[in-house]
Amino acid sequence: MTPLSAAVSLIISRPTELWKTTFLVVLFHAAVLLISPTKAAAVPAALHVALDPGHGGLDKGAIHSSIKESELVLLVANKVKSLLEKNENVRVTMTRTEDQSVSLSDRVKIAEARHVDIFVSLHANAANDQRAKGVEFFFQNNLPPDEESLYLANLENQSNTALNQAQEVEKQELSKKGDISAIIEDLHHQNKMMSSLRFSQTLNQFWQSDDKSNPATIKQAPFYVISKTTMPAVLIEVGFLTHPKEVKQLAKPEYQDQIAEKISKAILTFKEKMDKPELRTLN
Ligand SMILES: [Zn+2]
Repeated sequence: MTPLSAAVSLIISRPTELWKTTFLVVLFHAAVLLISPTKAAAVPAALHVALDPGHGGLDKGAIHSSIKESELVLLVANKVKSLLEKNENVRVTMTRTEDQSVSLSDRVKIAEARHVDIFVSLHANAANDQRAKGVEFFFQNNLPPDEESLYLANLENQSNTALNQAQEVEKQELSKKGDISAIIEDLHHQNKMMSSLRFSQTLNQFWQSDDKSNPATIKQAPFYVISKTTMPAVLIEVGFLTHPKEVKQLAKPEYQDQIAEKISKAILTFKEKMDKPELRTLN
């Protein structure tokens, strides 16, 4: 029997089975076309950014030369938001939009509930040494923090007790979990840390050409909001309110515009890197 006559005899003898098979094959090909990765890659994925202006309400943060950290970072955050929203593929969620008090845990909850892709916390620095100046980018640390970073983290975390309590809860939760889930959680954690470092490096690039004598620095510290969020997270200290010259700069709207522009450009560059896996290893 030739293959053709075999097919004909199959159609004649078992028509339902053959049509069922043909229907399933067509359905399978249609499904493959629908979920084709080339089709999905043609449309850039939207990026959802959480902007977190630190402090607010009764907590003004650092205050120097009549500049209040809580007000300054809200101004900068609003500028970053306007710049980012010019891009139709970017959505922005603010953890606070006015001079209001929002707890650190609520800031994290907002970002998690809205499933944001990236978390950017904005602060302004203060130091006993008036010579300290420049921008600093912090991502979560896995190693014992150095004394200075820990001191700063305690300041920005508002209350050390909140952090200690959170760490205690985390320890208890970990002991309840099985080995496999602990490993998976650890992988997520490592992945988040690497992405946060890459985002810090991207931010850093936008400051490098400015002032060679005072480059921006990348550091690690256990700030609550960047430790407790599960997406890539960076805390930016936009400058020192205690530095006599820098505080004057920070008060100027044009200087705030420049900061906002660099942050928004870095976010868009980071998005580009995330959209193109082949660029992920590049700084
Ligand atoms: Zn602060």
